[in-house]
Amino acid sequence: MATRFAPSPTGLLHLGHAFAAFMAWEEAARSSTSCLLRLEDIDVSRTRPEFTNAIFTDLAWLGLSWPTPVWLQSQRMPAYADALTTLDRLGLLYPCFCTRQDLLTIDAPQGPDGPLYQGTCRSLSTMQRDDLIASGKPFALRLDSTRAISLAGPLTWTDLNLGPQPANPALLGDAVLARKDIRSSYHLAVVVDDAAQHISVVTRGDDLFASTHLHRLLQALLNLPAPLYRHHRLIRDDLGRRLAKRDGARSLQSLRQNGLSPADIRQLLDLH
Ligand code: GLU
Repeated sequence: MATRFAPSPTGLLHLGHAFAAFMAWEEAARSSTSCLLRLEDIDVSRTRPEFTNAIFTDLAWLGLSWPTPVWLQSQRMPAYADALTTLDRLGLLYPCFCTRQDLLTIDAPQGPDGPLYQGTCRSLSTMQRDDLIASGKPFALRLDSTRAISLAGPLTWTDLNLGPQPANPALLGDAVLARKDIRSSYHLAVVVDDAAQHISVVTRGDDLFASTHLHRLLQALLNLPAPLYRHHRLIRDDLGRRLAKRDGARSLQSLRQNGLSPADIRQLLDLH
C-alpha cells in the first residue's frame, strides 16, 4: 500500500510540482505508507537525464525521501503491450491514422484535454484498415469508448475530498492508448503502473480530475483494483494561469539558486 509522485523528466520542476510532491508525501504520512517515486519517461524524445537528476536534487532539497529503485515507465513497455493485447482481444481498440493536421481541421467539441475525437477512423472497414497498415501509414490505437463503457457497465470511484463519483469516461471520448511513436500513452501507463505498484491513494492535481473517469474505466476493463484519489488545487501564477514547465523562472532550481530555502517554498505555497 502506497502513494506516489509521478513527474515526467521533460523539464525542470516548478512550484506546482513542489506542491504536488508535498501533497503526495503528506498523504503517505497520513496513512503510514511510503511515497514512491515514478518517472513518467515514456516520451523518450523529450526525456533528458539532466531533468531526471534535477528531480532527485530538488526533492531531496525539499526534505523528501523515497524508496529505491525508482520506477521508470520507459522500462515497462512489455506490461503496456500486454494491457493493449487484453483490450484488443475485447475488441475495444482501433487504429487511428489521423494526423495532427486532420485533428485540427475537424470541428470538434472541446473535451477536458482538447478537442474530442470525432471517430473518423472508428468507422473504417477492416479492409481499409489493413490497406492503410500495409501501406506503412503510422497509426495510434484508440479506445472505442462507447463499446468499452457498455462492456464495463456503471462504475464509481472515490475522491477523498469530494466523496464517491459516478465514472463518466465519455468525457474524454476515444482516448489514445498507444501513440504513433510510442506504443503506450499517459492514460494506459498510469493505470497499469498504479496497479503494479500497489498504489492505494493517488494524489494529483485537479487538472487530471477528468482523466480519472477514464482511468476507472481502464481499471475495470483490465481487471485492476481501483485506488482512492485525492485531487489537489493547482498552483497558479499572478495572472491565474497554471504554472507550466516552460515558465523557467519559477523552477525550483532557480529559486534555490536565488537563495530561497525549503521553508520559503512551503510559505510560497501556503503550507505550514
Ligand atoms: N506525469 C504526470 C505529470 O507530470 C502526473 C500523472 C499523475 O500523477 O497521474 O503531470
